[in-house]
Amino acid sequence: MLYAEFVDIYEALSKTSKRLEKEKILANFLRKLKDKDDPQWIYLLQGRVVPEYDSREFGISRQLAMKAIHAGLGVSESEIHKQFNKIGDIGEIAEMFVSKKKQSSLFSSKLQVSKVFDNLSKLMTIEGKGTVERKLAYVSELLGQASGLEAKYIVRTLLSDLRVGVAEGILRDSLAEAFFPQEKKEMADIIEAVYDLVNDLAILFEAASKGKKALEKVEIVPGRPVKVMLPVKVNAIGEAFEICGKPAALEHKYDGFRMMINKNGKEISLFTRKLENVTKQFPDAVKAVQSHVKGESFILDCEAVGYDAVTKKYKPFEAISQRIKRKYDIDALIKKLPVELNIFDVLYYNGKSLIDMHFIERRKLLEKIISHEKLVIRPSFQIITDSEAKAKEFYEHALEIGEEGIMVKKLDAPYRQGRRVGYIVKLKPLVADLDLVIVGAEYGSGKRGGWLTSYIVACRKNGEFVEVGKVSSGLKEKEEEGTSYDAMTKLLKPLITETKGNYVKVSPKIVVSVTYQNIQRSPSYSSGYAMRFPRISHYRPDRKPHDIATIHDIEKESRSGRL
Ligand code: ATP
Repeated sequence: MLYAEFVDIYEALSKTSKRLEKEKILANFLRKLKDKDDPQWIYLLQGRVVPEYDSREFGISRQLAMKAIHAGLGVSESEIHKQFNKIGDIGEIAEMFVSKKKQSSLFSSKLQVSKVFDNLSKLMTIEGKGTVERKLAYVSELLGQASGLEAKYIVRTLLSDLRVGVAEGILRDSLAEAFFPQEKKEMADIIEAVYDLVNDLAILFEAASKGKKALEKVEIVPGRPVKVMLPVKVNAIGEAFEICGKPAALEHKYDGFRMMINKNGKEISLFTRKLENVTKQFPDAVKAVQSHVKGESFILDCEAVGYDAVTKKYKPFEAISQRIKRKYDIDALIKKLPVELNIFDVLYYNGKSLIDMHFIERRKLLEKIISHEKLVIRPSFQIITDSEAKAKEFYEHALEIGEEGIMVKKLDAPYRQGRRVGYIVKLKPLVADLDLVIVGAEYGSGKRGGWLTSYIVACRKNGEFVEVGKVSSGLKEKEEEGTSYDAMTKLLKPLITETKGNYVKVSPKIVVSVTYQNIQRSPSYSSGYAMRFPRISHYRPDRKPHDIATIHDIEKESRSGRL
């Protein structure tokens, strides 16, 4: 197949922003693509050569792309820079130079999709000495054979900036349109469910093109991430039982992060809820799984919770999020912030998918295969009850020991990947909202370097302001009036009265509404109280500092049962 056929589709897609039109264009193309060599070519429609969960990159920067244009087309680097300053899109620059060069010679491109796919794939695997030169050679080779338009899309693909607007949802619906035009709606749902199971467009495409039976046969495989099942939210125990039936299983809602543990023979891989592969960041979790879980192959669903290595106290999610991001010095961080794995589901075991098995049976298996060790790995703490009084007691105890709330689970439910279907419900305290004034702030780091990104907020006490916490979430990076770090920084800078390193004091003028989960006594702030999980919900230019919450409101809130 000629790459030109892909380019025609990119062009057609970029000319419309209407979803239905895009779907039609794609559906026609997918029917054609079906008979070609390789289902993986479908990734190219999104500017990729691997499934979305595979985080490997081409590793081509804008500079390198310019070098490749220089090497592949013999244009001087200064000319490329000059054009870049004028046009700003390297794809278009590549198109322009290629067209100029090949115009006169009646050039007609014979560039094959397989060639483009292969060269792009190789870029992801090159490592070590001479990497840059080898990458340049693969890209220049493609540009040397491409037409102007082809060059544009090759370069845009390399820079992960295809600009044709094909999101995963459109592609899924286009598959339904292409292969099941008579029952499009029903099949779109099935296609979505299969996608959530495999998260791989090529597998989905191949099955869909063969028909409904083939789609139904698609199975989970350890090592390939599955989208997790999600809870719906309820506000009362009674409501939880209404949805899940009686009796139901009750578990603590741990404040860590969701981890899918995959084992296939010797190979163990760990994925987050967003399908990010975090195996390298958590060698301690890999070890715990190797030594504490029986079985040749499995997929386990769990919450990894961080704790302080010295005090053995659990830490909130914010702390453990450093471990997800950390790519170096991992051993030192493990020593400081180990994790405990609270396993709450099993989706696959020794060669068999269990997603259609009832939860209670899956749970029984789970308990058999895990050898429990405190602070390392354990089945999630669970009770099964039909008593609302017992459930309430369980909930209150969970909050007392600092958990976020509880999860209630339906015993005879299957596992439904990627959905909030009501087989699990979560119950947490209501989020409340207080108006507070900003009295101090801290500069962010890295990308947020120039901005004040965390804010010390205070309430009123006898005509003064006393601090009740530090809030750093809720704002966007850039936006209007006070709802972004950028805008908030502009509001606060003129109010600075004192600077100490990263920290500034500001005169109390800016009022914000802050939501939080609960308020606890705390020696860290001058009010003697601190908010848990605070988040700015609104900037309140309409409020004055004398309108804000008082220490009495805070005391009342801390006793209000929002434990
Ligand atoms: P929010 O903070 O708004 O409640 P969340 O990040 O907790 O959102 P939700 O989808 O509302 O996300 O809650 C589900 C999450 O709760 C799961 O993804 C999982 O990470 C976590 N969780 C903690 N304990 C359990 C448990 N015992 N069973 C299932 N999920 C649990």
